[in-house]
Amino acid sequence: MQTILIVEDEPGIADTLVYVLEQEGFATRWVQLAGDALELLEQEPIDAVLLDIGLPDASGLETCKQIRAKWTVPILFLTARKEEIDRIIGLEIGADDYISKPFSPREVAARVKAVLRRTQANQITSQPAGQGECEQQQCGPFLLNLTTHSISYHNQVLELTPYEYRILRTLLSQPERVFSRAQLLDNMSDTPLPSLDRSVDSHIRSLRAKLTMVNQENQPVCTRRGFGYFLKVQA
Ligand code: CA
Repeated sequence: MQTILIVEDEPGIADTLVYVLEQEGFATRWVQLAGDALELLEQEPIDAVLLDIGLPDASGLETCKQIRAKWTVPILFLTARKEEIDRIIGLEIGADDYISKPFSPREVAARVKAVLRRTQANQITSQPAGQGECEQQQCGPFLLNLTTHSISYHNQVLELTPYEYRILRTLLSQPERVFSRAQLLDNMSDTPLPSLDRSVDSHIRSLRAKLTMVNQENQPVCTRRGFGYFLKVQA
């Protein structure tokens, strides 16, 4: 049975989450403070964390960073504020998804399952990072580490946003294959991202800039005009 840690200071919301997730066959743990969440992660195997952004003892964003520093467990934010959602969508802080309040029980269950499916496919566990199995794939000058969600290029770890990471991971999955913007978009998130078609281009632009900073000679991310993008990997 998979265990979901709920970090939420409002008992009414937490009760609903516990009920919904247990209906779906998950075990749940509920804490009201960020400090308690970090303590519980030390003690028990947790498969995913639902993290409220407004907690009494610390901000959820800060808590997310602290969890990320130590564990690879998937994190889903709970938030009621539009501006917070905008910040999370940048996903610079390493969250896997977010759920906006008020939420429907069905939505919560679907999001949690989607995140777990993806992370399990990547063989990520809630073991402290570094102690678990390290899944790596080499592809030309690229080294993809599925455990740490990181990609090295010419032996340099790229500082990628989660979207850039997912785009590059998708391109790396089948070098030379042309992926359309829609296909890249599909792989950027577990939940549909509306009207982000143009943003694929901007993520590609910043991804290319980061690759160029490491190696100016070749640009492996190529455009197939009218179709999409593909990765050219020289052996
Ligand atoms: Ca709260």
